[in-house]
Amino acid sequence: MKQKVPIIVFLMVLFLLAGCQKNESPGVNKESKKKISIVTTLFPLYDFARIICGDKAEIKLLLPPGVEAHSYEPKPADLIAISKADIFIYTNAVMEPWATTLLKGVASPALRIVDASEGAALRKAGVADSHEEKGHDHVGAMDPHLWLDFSNARIMVDNVTNGVISKDQANKEFYLANAQKYKEDLQKLDNDFILGLTGCIKNTFLHGGHYAFGYLAARYGLTYRSAQAVNPDAEPTPATIAQLLKLVKTSGIEYVYSEELVSPRISEMLARETGVKILTLHGAHNISKDDLAGGTSFVNLMRENLKNLKTGLQCR
Ligand SMILES: [Zn+2]
Repeated sequence: MKQKVPIIVFLMVLFLLAGCQKNESPGVNKESKKKISIVTTLFPLYDFARIICGDKAEIKLLLPPGVEAHSYEPKPADLIAISKADIFIYTNAVMEPWATTLLKGVASPALRIVDASEGAALRKAGVADSHEEKGHDHVGAMDPHLWLDFSNARIMVDNVTNGVISKDQANKEFYLANAQKYKEDLQKLDNDFILGLTGCIKNTFLHGGHYAFGYLAARYGLTYRSAQAVNPDAEPTPATIAQLLKLVKTSGIEYVYSEELVSPRISEMLARETGVKILTLHGAHNISKDDLAGGTSFVNLMRENLKNLKTGLQCR
């Protein structure tokens, strides 16, 4: 991905900031008198952190609501926010390639950095297990959308929890209990996907967006095709569009999916050309301002996805 971050500007800002910051001792939050401060990049991490921490942390979602995650470029204010935080949580270097560069400019030795994907099973981009998968590039690159496999989401919850506890040992049991309960909710969600997507008439879903649902397709044995590769910035080629149109016609699917926070024009074109209908599949990278204000959760978004998948795949 293009790196346009004027990092030298960040470093200068940080250098000045470091001179102004009060010199707090590293390590555990002092007797939990003040709330721990957490900065997360993507929405799932924000949601996991707020569920684990309850009212014991101030949590900031770095991406402004409504912003597309893959094309995000950090601002100097982001560097300042991270520098003031106790914990910075990001997905991994594939999803947020800018984070590694940005963190070099953070002059906060006490900052706990959490790579939420640590220990999770990552997939290669554009490879859908034993199912047909053609036309994707990025061979060898990793698919960053690991949160859409809920077994990985549970590992991410553990990583977030460990990071939080490292800064607030006093409330360790509280965080562990919240995390345990939430992991049970994710297990229930996983089970509901397994049950809900069993016995469907169709097995193929077609997404007029980028390749975000490879993890989900693999976990539930579905065949998945998307118009774009793992990043939504590259336009699909005419050959890819022709393949997708052919797939709609030959598979007999009655719905195609559009993605959140990105123009649905590819889905609309497929619908216009073939007469299929459009449903949304939410990748949950980020959410809209209204959804954030309305308290939408990751689990809510996934339940809506299950409902729409069951409609599109003609499940019981
Ligand atoms: Zn994505």
